[in-house]
Amino acid sequence: MNTREEAVALDSADPLAALRDEFALPTAAIYLDGNSLGVAPAAAAQRAQTVIAAEWGEGLIRSWNSAGWFALPRRLGNKLAPLIGANENEVVVTDTISVNLFKLLSAALRLQDSRDPKRRLIVSERSNFPTDLYIAQGLIEQLDRGYELRLIDDPSELPAALGDDTAVVMITHVNYRTGYMHDMPALTKLIHEKGALALWDLAHSAGAVPVDLNGANADYAVGCTYKYLNGGPGSPAFVWVAERHQNAFSQPLSGWWGHRAPFEMNPTYRPDDGVGRFLCGTQPMVSMALVECGLDVFLQTDMQAIRKKSLALTDLFIELVESRCKEFPLTLVTPREHAKRGSHASFEHPNGYEVMQALIARGVIGDYREPHVLRFGFTPLYTRYVDVWDAVETLRDVLANETWRAPEFATRGAVT
Ligand SMILES: *Cc1c(COP(=O)(O)O)cnc(C)c1O
Repeated sequence: MNTREEAVALDSADPLAALRDEFALPTAAIYLDGNSLGVAPAAAAQRAQTVIAAEWGEGLIRSWNSAGWFALPRRLGNKLAPLIGANENEVVVTDTISVNLFKLLSAALRLQDSRDPKRRLIVSERSNFPTDLYIAQGLIEQLDRGYELRLIDDPSELPAALGDDTAVVMITHVNYRTGYMHDMPALTKLIHEKGALALWDLAHSAGAVPVDLNGANADYAVGCTYKYLNGGPGSPAFVWVAERHQNAFSQPLSGWWGHRAPFEMNPTYRPDDGVGRFLCGTQPMVSMALVECGLDVFLQTDMQAIRKKSLALTDLFIELVESRCKEFPLTLVTPREHAKRGSHASFEHPNGYEVMQALIARGVIGDYREPHVLRFGFTPLYTRYVDVWDAVETLRDVLANETWRAPEFATRGAVT
């Protein structure tokens, strides 16, 4: 592509273009960080007002029933299910990815222990998002039964890393830094052939790429709602468990919301049948209610249409950076192959942190990830082709004029 007009023409022909109006977009910014925190759905402010003023303000305690609060984790789970190839009653929206990983890893280790106690190994990737690894490390220490975490450095090492000692393989479907996407059906098959269980983290997949958990015959999955699903800052995560494992699950965080009859106030824990046993305690209703606003936008389209535009946006971004910024030291770290790419694109630059701060100061909001990575997320529901063009022109300007060298761009905030 050589002109801005060509990008405008792609937007005019875009079947998803109208969905942009479903979002309250920031003024005077090109937002390429929906892979980290999705933008607010236009309906969210009114929904928050209703929950706070009417459901909480007027309804008060009655709203657990009358406003459907108590049922919300299950109801939203059912609404989210089609986006990840899950069935009715297989998903609940609750807690955080970190907390849910603790529950699922515990369940997987318990299940394997009952089948084959020599399976003491959790396999994951060194490049995984750190909290996933930290939770595994904490659980291993807590169990104190000789479990071990083995990290591989490249997906090609996986077959050799799996043996008759492997209990569970915990993999993030789309890598948070590089955007590398694993082949979920093929890896799940391999993991099962080795007698292990497959736990998938869908943080950068749900709402970003088509996922078919049941089609892949996966065992467990987690994901969050505040990235591509636009649920809001800190909105609760989700848990999926294949139906065959649901009642084989023993939940270490055996709180009352996972009880079969929580209001019997029985002194003995008895887990609910099915996915309800993954709940623990009282959920943040104001935040959880807003998750629905994001999910409702997805009902107006489908993941195939979203994927098609996502690949077109990332292809265009890569093409433009490589053609219009070619004199600068930018190295693509995202796979070019469509089958291996999620919905963001990352480039390394020796001064990546400073370059990103300079871009943000110019209203192009991406983010920075260690080491040296400029990360740009593409969210087909609200990102336009012309945004891609304008973002690359701004990047070119920041690099050509070296505005990133200004001292204020070297200062690091608590969140990068
Ligand atoms: C964003 C992300 C998380 C975040 O975990 P929380 O517990 O919800 O803060 C975890 N894992 C991956 C792979 C992520 O991308």
